[in-house]
Amino acid sequence: MTLWKKILITVALVMVGSGVVLYFAARFIVLSGYLRLEDTYMQENAQRAANILEDRFRRMSITLDDWGYWDDTCDFVQNATPEYLEANLGTSSITALELNLMIFVDASDQIVSSSMVDLETDEEIPMPAALQSYFSDEFLSAYHAVTDTFKTILVLPEAPFLIAAHSILPTSLEGPACGTIVVGRYLDPELVDYLAELAQVDLTIYLADAPQVTAEVRSALTPDSPILSRVLDDQTIAGYALVADANGAPTLILETRAPRDIYRQGQLSLWYFLLSIVVAGIGAGASALLFLRRSVLGRMFNLGAEVEAIGASGDPSRRVAVSGNDELTRLERSVNDMLGALEHAQAEQQRAETELREYSEKLKTMVAERTTQLQSQYTRLDAILSNTTDGIIVAAADGRILEMNPVAQTWLGNKLSAEDAEQLRGAVRRMTQQKPEGAVVLELAEMDLELSGAYLPESPPVEGVASAIHFAEPPLPPPSVVIAIHDVTHLKSLARMQADFVTNVSHELRTPVTALKLYIDLLRRRPAEVERYLAALEQTVDRQMRLVESILNLSRIDSGQLEAQYTVTDFNALVKHSLPGDIAQLAGQQDVRLSYRFAEEALPISVDTDRIGQAIYDLVINALHYTLPGGAVTVATGSEMKGERLWVWLSVTDTGIGIPDNELPHIFERFYRGARAQQMRASGSGLGLALVQEFVNLHAGEVTVTSQVGAGSTFTLWLPAAPSA
Ligand code: ADP
Repeated sequence: MTLWKKILITVALVMVGSGVVLYFAARFIVLSGYLRLEDTYMQENAQRAANILEDRFRRMSITLDDWGYWDDTCDFVQNATPEYLEANLGTSSITALELNLMIFVDASDQIVSSSMVDLETDEEIPMPAALQSYFSDEFLSAYHAVTDTFKTILVLPEAPFLIAAHSILPTSLEGPACGTIVVGRYLDPELVDYLAELAQVDLTIYLADAPQVTAEVRSALTPDSPILSRVLDDQTIAGYALVADANGAPTLILETRAPRDIYRQGQLSLWYFLLSIVVAGIGAGASALLFLRRSVLGRMFNLGAEVEAIGASGDPSRRVAVSGNDELTRLERSVNDMLGALEHAQAEQQRAETELREYSEKLKTMVAERTTQLQSQYTRLDAILSNTTDGIIVAAADGRILEMNPVAQTWLGNKLSAEDAEQLRGAVRRMTQQKPEGAVVLELAEMDLELSGAYLPESPPVEGVASAIHFAEPPLPPPSVVIAIHDVTHLKSLARMQADFVTNVSHELRTPVTALKLYIDLLRRRPAEVERYLAALEQTVDRQMRLVESILNLSRIDSGQLEAQYTVTDFNALVKHSLPGDIAQLAGQQDVRLSYRFAEEALPISVDTDRIGQAIYDLVINALHYTLPGGAVTVATGSEMKGERLWVWLSVTDTGIGIPDNELPHIFERFYRGARAQQMRASGSGLGLALVQEFVNLHAGEVTVTSQVGAGSTFTLWLPAAPSA
């Protein structure tokens, strides 16, 4: 609901409420005043009517005075003089006095004369029986000596009857009373009209017990409160006066009626008053509202509309119009001040937001850069850690392993036996706790490991961070040590191999030298067999030279000095060239069937023909050596696509002794010789296959072997084919 509506409703309610209050107050105050006035007026009327009746009695009293205090009257009641009667007591005399009755009583209470007159006809009439009985002896004797006027009202069937009496005295008013004079008059309609006229009221006289008078009025009228007024209806009001007889008994009730002019005037005044109040109220209310609307509400509405418009535009730089110099002006100024503060605050906020945005952007860039750096560092580190052949373990201060690289995972996962893995864990724990200087070598059943630790400084916990962050899982303890685990098994075996190599080389070199010395000695002692011993000597020297050549080749390979001379050639031709006639001869000697199955197509390869030729030769020689008489050796060539690459292959298959499974992993090791081989031939050096592998590796090829003891072996040499021209 709008303020204006509320004000209108409030003003209307106040006006209606105060109108109602005013109406009742005015009604109470004004009307009750008029009612009191009306009451007083009517009581006065009633009182006046009563006074007029009293006046009538007074007039009767004056008549009594005139007639009673007179020597003639005294004389008349004492002597019953007929002259007096004739001269004064004619009917006309009584009617002239407007009386109905005149009685003269003597001192002995005997009625001397009584005259009853009809005032309308002026004729004497007989006294009604009720009156006669009233004027009994007792009445007359009771009042004959009374000088004061006796007054009473008798209720007669015809009409109420007014009676007045007092003593008859001589004119000198001295001496004893001569008798009593009594006058009476009917309170007839004529007299009532007369009295009403005198009193200027609308008069009606009722007997005290008349039914026209309400019981309420009758009971309210008492000798102590003989006057009252009563509203009869909206139009009429009545005043009542109680009149008692000589005994004080209520006899008559005078009723004066009057139209309620005063009351109506009061009502009219009240309505005029209310009307003027209403008109004044409406006028005052309307002008107050008009003033309120023009000087307060209108401005407030304008102010509200302006503030609303500013709010809708969202532009706090706008201001509301300021006018006048009152409370609303202060409000307008306050609104403007507030808008100023808002503008300032908004500007501040915008500035802060811009700064924050810039800072956040900068931070984002920094974080992104740093993240990229860290990611690349991490990637590098991860690549290093993933590709390093060493195992890396990060452990906490309590020896718990926090992280490890794939190598360490493989070792601890499945490469090492359960005992070895546990030993490695134990070593990590010990290193974490004891922090030994230098590397620790751990000799396990399967491999030898060298552990070296880098110990991280303890970082103090950051205050408040732990309590501020809620972890879904308890955080890991900080890393304490990074342990690099190096597999030194091969180094150790290399060392062993070196030692073995020296032993083997010295052994292999000494054996032919001993043979040479033996043949020289034999030559000296048996010069006739010079040819035979020279041939043996030559053979031994050749073997010695081959051995030395082999050792030299290995040494060159190891030191990286072996330089390959690549030539593109057909692999079939190379195989044929590498296997000269002495091979067939050897096969023949050993009763081994040597056969070839060359690929039909040309197999172009780019190789060092000497090295690869040597390798082919060694493989075939081995096959012949380890095949028993009656066996067969088959040399075959071919090509095959492996992946996207074309490979050229040579297979040497024999039906010889075969290689046991436990020897297979070692046959390419230098100076390694199988047990059967050692038994069969003393001349082998164990370097042949080692060199074959080195030469093939030099050409990015590989040698594979399958073998079964007693059934034979197949050595296959794979070399990448030269791209066809
Ligand atoms: P060597 O033949 O001089 O002993 P190699 O290096 O040529 O040395 O061979 C190493 C070992 O491999 C041999 O001692 C032998 O036990 C085994 N070997 C090589 N070729 C064959 C083969 N064709 N059949 C069976 N055993 C073989």
